[in-house]
Amino acid sequence: ATPMSVMVGVGKAAEYGALIRQGDALQTAGKLDLVILDKTGTITEGHPAVTRLHSINCDENRLLGLAAALEQHSEHPLAEAITAKASENGITPEKVTDFEAINGKGVQGIFDGHRLRLGNRRWLEDEGVSVAACDEAIDRITQEAGTPLLLALGDKALGVIGVADAIKADSRAAIERLHASGIRVMMVTGDVDATAKAIAAEAGIDDYRAGVLPEDKAEVVSEMRGKGYTVAMVGDGINDAPALAAADVGFAIGTGTDVAIESAAITLMRGSLHGVPDAIEISRATVRNIH
Ligand code: ADP
Ligand code: MG
Repeated sequence: ATPMSVMVGVGKAAEYGALIRQGDALQTAGKLDLVILDKTGTITEGHPAVTRLHSINCDENRLLGLAAALEQHSEHPLAEAITAKASENGITPEKVTDFEAINGKGVQGIFDGHRLRLGNRRWLEDEGVSVAACDEAIDRITQEAGTPLLLALGDKALGVIGVADAIKADSRAAIERLHASGIRVMMVTGDVDATAKAIAAEAGIDDYRAGVLPEDKAEVVSEMRGKGYTVAMVGDGINDAPALAAADVGFAIGTGTDVAIESAAITLMRGSLHGVPDAIEISRATVRNIH
């Protein structure tokens, strides 16, 4: 495209709230044939709330007080949900030492001389926790499109907390626009399969990958590029930064983390997924103009 038509295109995209930070992204956007979407904060609002408390051999207040003891040290959206619920119920979080966040798995620390962990089933099982007593609660939570977080002290499960995040009101419509223009849409998430499936269905996506560790999101992007797709990645989290950088065009949600924004060519200032088909349509029109 001529420098002039690109400038017009960049200006047009800005009117739609798509800030183009890398000049060639506008031209590449028109060639995209696969859009990969992160789930939390991208398809969903990113403000999860606690929906269920299922305690095992302890009461709900203890479950929440111990979970909040860990999450008060974390910046993950899931952490916000748990500390907010504790404070709403008037529960003061317990104190832990040696706090650590394990990317894509959960959080841990030392409480009362024992290892306290809060995270997904796969991780706790790998760490030797007996998780079978949690399965009924897990099923109920995932069927409602919620994320189940298991709490364990030492090798004993103390319960499951269900956290759910609503999808953005216009995510489904934006995804429909992409499908209508012949673009394949895929969701990748670190969340468990059943939850991913429920959210994908709500969003109108039949193509998703669950249980993807943060470092593996970029690998999914590379794999699909290797198959010949021109790939967009859309994300908001620190977790998504390598995948945003690996894509042909990275789109960061404007309310997302700075690291995501810096790794992406385009920032969606309005937070809506409509910015993706908007940018693609503007790009196609820009490139058409110069032929
Ligand atoms: P997503 O791909 O949905 O943004 P992440 O990769 O950040 O998710 O996390 C994947 C999974 O790891 C979560 O669904 C949760 O089970 C677990 N996890 C990550 N961070 C935390 C945390 N702070 N507290 C509890 N669980 C966590
Ligand atoms: Mg996210």
